[in-house]
Amino acid sequence: MAPSIATTVAGVLGTARRITVKVGSSLIVGDDDGVRHDWLASLGTDIAALKTAGKQVVLVSSGAVALGRRHLGLRKTTRLDHKQAAAAAGQALLMQAWERALAPHGIPTAQLLLTIDDTEQRRRSLNARATLDVLLAQGGLPVINENDSVATDELKYGDNDRLSARAAQLVRSDVLILLSDVDGLYTADPARYPGAEHLAYITAITPEIEAFAGGAGMAGTGTGGMRTKLEAALIASGFGCATIIACGRADHPLARLADGARATLVAASGSPASAYKAWIKGTLAPGGSVTIDDGAARALAAGKSLLPAGVTKVEGRFDRGACLRVFDSAGTEVARGIAAYNATEAAAIAGLGSAEIERRLGFSGRDELIHRDDLVML
Ligand code: GLU
Repeated sequence: MAPSIATTVAGVLGTARRITVKVGSSLIVGDDDGVRHDWLASLGTDIAALKTAGKQVVLVSSGAVALGRRHLGLRKTTRLDHKQAAAAAGQALLMQAWERALAPHGIPTAQLLLTIDDTEQRRRSLNARATLDVLLAQGGLPVINENDSVATDELKYGDNDRLSARAAQLVRSDVLILLSDVDGLYTADPARYPGAEHLAYITAITPEIEAFAGGAGMAGTGTGGMRTKLEAALIASGFGCATIIACGRADHPLARLADGARATLVAASGSPASAYKAWIKGTLAPGGSVTIDDGAARALAAGKSLLPAGVTKVEGRFDRGACLRVFDSAGTEVARGIAAYNATEAAAIAGLGSAEIERRLGFSGRDELIHRDDLVML
């Protein structure tokens, strides 16, 4: 029997709409501590091809610390202040390198430096998501890294594997590709055990699978090992995103993957949209509620967003990003969704047409109070 599309790398890549690609330091920085420009150019060509095929791509790039060290003449050390200074210097070089790789394809790059709060706090994650959505809609390539220069040790993702899983979640990627210098997960460390078996497809990260990753940490320029890659895959699969762990050493790493290069595919459970909506539906403590008129109720039933114009009452004290109950005029809870405005703003614009929102609030926000992507019917 032919394998189903979702169980092969080529199949997953073919159907994915949004793809997050994480690139480890060892791929970006060469043995001379300089940028591997030719390789970056080849990845740029691969990314351009994906975009031409109608896919949106987000890049999570390491390499700032390694590049900045050389630039500043700092030695390799674990000293936090030195690493932070190196990241500050290297991040600029890193962005120059990506811009150079993508410019020939007419793809503008844009830098996003995240700290843990930007993905773990709903309100801030909504802001980051909105920024990413605009960048993608404009055909850009967001390049994400951790804001190493200000993040403190206790409050860090620490490695870009986990950061990339959170970034993938933020943009609701269908697939996360972790490019490093290993071509996937083995039953034992292949460098030490020649008989180690490569695992091409993992349906679930069981304790047995986790045990395979134990001790298979990679030395070298980056910080992530197989363990953090599996952690990333676990986060990703939980929100409906498949993960591909692949070796990116050679030029054109993404084209090679599509052509069947060896890799490990970790399955997703559900789809990003279904996982997000299940999460909204399952919110234990909605932050407030709105009551809507019959016209709005019909619009929601037809799959549309909730506009302030259809709101007759706002209750509760909630921030932007809170989950709201939506009641119809008879008092039945008909939907749940994520508020694009806080309670004060929502009350101020209830009943208003889109054109009046900006005048009332003094700033221009979203047209919708709850966007249909953030809404589930009950
Ligand atoms: N954020 C770090 C950097 O840009 C890398 C962390 C990692 O490699 O996981 O150098």
